[in-house]
Amino acid sequence: MIYFDYTATSKPNEEVLALYQKINSEYWCNPSSIYKAGIINNNLFQKCEKDINDALGLQNKKVFFTSGATEANNLAVYGICNNYLGQNKNVITTSVEHPSVLSCFQDLEKKGFKVTYLSVDEDGIINLEELKENINSDTVLVSTMWVNNIVGSIQPIDEVIKIVKKYPRCKLHVDAVQGIGKIKPNFDFNKVDMFTLSSHKINGLKSSGTLIINDKIILQSVLKGATQQEGVRPGTIDIALSASTTKALKLILAKRDERYPYVKELHEYFKDCLKDIPGVVINGGSKSYSPYILNISILNTESETFIHYLEKYEIYVAAGSACNSKIKKPEKTIYAMYKDERRAVTSLRISLSYASTKEEIDEFIKRLKEFI
Ligand code: PLP
Repeated sequence: MIYFDYTATSKPNEEVLALYQKINSEYWCNPSSIYKAGIINNNLFQKCEKDINDALGLQNKKVFFTSGATEANNLAVYGICNNYLGQNKNVITTSVEHPSVLSCFQDLEKKGFKVTYLSVDEDGIINLEELKENINSDTVLVSTMWVNNIVGSIQPIDEVIKIVKKYPRCKLHVDAVQGIGKIKPNFDFNKVDMFTLSSHKINGLKSSGTLIINDKIILQSVLKGATQQEGVRPGTIDIALSASTTKALKLILAKRDERYPYVKELHEYFKDCLKDIPGVVINGGSKSYSPYILNISILNTESETFIHYLEKYEIYVAAGSACNSKIKKPEKTIYAMYKDERRAVTSLRISLSYASTKEEIDEFIKRLKEFI
């Protein structure tokens, strides 16, 4: 198979799988139990938080282990906004967020919050002037992704931090799912109040992720339960998953900078191969972008038709976010960039990894030319 859908998920690393198995075999006692076996396991759990802080160069951030980035994003958004229910506060996000953020803001509108959705340019990059115009002393949350999951645009988080820091009450949340372990940040994560990771995007396991926050932030928890993870994320702690996420993060960070130039070369090679094919346009990718994601539209073919054509050759690409792939609507990020419905219903997301090769790209191009 030729897999070009690493943005949807990635293959679990063997070392991560082995660790998951080992912890489940040897350290399966409940880490909240007060006897020795529980204490040993709780120490293992505490070490995950320390290791994540060390791996990312963070200073004493609190790490909440969740069932994935969807839960972590919900926890961040509602965790802040539930402190301000009924107070007509302002919140700001972007028009191109993943549904796990966007749907929370759409719900907050119904709860009386004034929501601003920042627009993007043709590269999928937010408008900072619009942020400056809309943020004020009544703004309690700004949430923006770092790397867009559809076109790979990289948002100017360094500039966003400068703007948000002028409003001490306002918290900044960054969905870092598609950037972590792939792109070297040009900003300091210590200056971001809260950010989200997903394990299965970095060769970890599905249904696991983290919300990492400044320890002074008070989150009104969405879940109610016992006191695990400070009662913010109650429920029996799964140290096998927490340790797997930590391991996956450490492994990918160790290889990030050595892999980047290779993936960038593949990305440029791919674009070069596409440039003279009639009816194919590249979406975004001329300013600040992640080479791990390439988005194109085959203007006379709906995304689904081409995806199923490629599938016959075991070549896998996506038509936007996998989480929404059963809903047939124009891809919202592409639409937000170009306001062009045709371009948005014909878009394809091709995502690369360090394991991708030029031979795989050649095979894709061959099939694309045959199709056209
Ligand atoms: N945020 C972004 C940017 C994503 O790409 C995804 C998944 O595609 C998520 C959040 C949700 O991640 P999870 O599958 O861990 O819930």
